[in-house]
Amino acid sequence: MSKTKEILTQTEKYSANNYHPLDVVLSRGEGIWVWDVDGNKYMDCLAAYSAVNQGHRHQKVLDALIKQTEHITLTSRAFHNDRMGEFLHKLCEVTGKEKALPMNTGAEAVETAIKAVRKWGYEVKGVEEGKAEIITCSGNFHGRTTTIVGFSTEAQYKDGFGPFTPGFVTVPYGDIKSLEDAITPNTVAFLFEPLQGEGGVVVPPEGYIKKAAEICKQKNVLMVADEIQTGLGRTGKMFCCDHEEVVPDVYILGKALGGGVYPVSGIACDDDIMGVFHPGDHGSTFGGNPLGSAVGLASLNVLIDEKLPAKAADLGKYFMEELNKIESPHVDHIRGKGLMIGVVIKESSGTARPFCEKLRDLGVLAKETHHQVIRFAPPLVITKDEIDWALERIEKVLK
Ligand SMILES: *Cc1c(COP(=O)(O)O)cnc(C)c1O
Repeated sequence: MSKTKEILTQTEKYSANNYHPLDVVLSRGEGIWVWDVDGNKYMDCLAAYSAVNQGHRHQKVLDALIKQTEHITLTSRAFHNDRMGEFLHKLCEVTGKEKALPMNTGAEAVETAIKAVRKWGYEVKGVEEGKAEIITCSGNFHGRTTTIVGFSTEAQYKDGFGPFTPGFVTVPYGDIKSLEDAITPNTVAFLFEPLQGEGGVVVPPEGYIKKAAEICKQKNVLMVADEIQTGLGRTGKMFCCDHEEVVPDVYILGKALGGGVYPVSGIACDDDIMGVFHPGDHGSTFGGNPLGSAVGLASLNVLIDEKLPAKAADLGKYFMEELNKIESPHVDHIRGKGLMIGVVIKESSGTARPFCEKLRDLGVLAKETHHQVIRFAPPLVITKDEIDWALERIEKVLK
């Protein structure tokens, strides 16, 4: 029995069946490359859903992690630690915001944003207690907590998990008129992804984010951008909202904020919003811990020092152009921004899954999203030659 088979059998026996991974068991990673337990090498074109933008085991991120373990790793927020301030300073610098609040996973950061904008609604906007509404989009993905799945439009994400938290309204993604019509005096926020990753790499019509920002401002509604997947360089700018020169009221960040080695997330906003939190209102045992703070700071520094957003813009453009040149009977269209690219497979050609399995056999790891879409989102440290290597294999599979 191969090592892979052995581990798959063990995993199947003991793990909950809540994922359907490709049958590949990884045991090593470096940059854009990963190796399985049987010694096969693959290019990682998923990058842990963009949590590994800096590449696997980036030396500077690892150095920060290891160095910090030699001092202190966890204090809880009952005491101060000497690393969090520096990390949040950098995060505020990068987002252009006055304050930041650290958490661990993306879903926790989304929950933090929901709490912040609701409280802002009651205390600052003057919404009657218990009446706050948050507008969300069809096709959204903001995480897996019971509150968050409650406003998902994906039946499977919520099936069997109710009852759900009230106070959320859904509008069609990309439709500015629906957003405008959905706003009431009780609306506190518009929560959206500037490009829907899990929804299938869905790019909204050009101008949508800018117009949404104008409407939010005009109606005193907070614009909350979930940039957990799109942020930190992935789409060719530091934040996807930058493409339309929009600065949302609240940024939600996660994934690559931990450089692929440690869960680090958080929100960033100005003090008029963050000021609603008082001691005891909200917290997390691990949020802002010294180890995570050291990793978060290093992860941001790598993105900036290596100009990864600009790299994603250039190489993403090249990757997309070359993909478009492939004459395939199976591809409906290709969409995306920067190094977040979705290849939409025609329904008549079946689902995207078998294409991902064939890619794996040729050494390219990509994952289907939403049945018909193959997502290509490699670490941003990829080179043009490496993209060419992937393209050769992708062409074979698509033809
Ligand atoms: C991954 C993701 C989340 C959830 O992050 P977790 O760390 O898995 O909780 C939320 N929003 C978006 C846009 C994401 O891509």
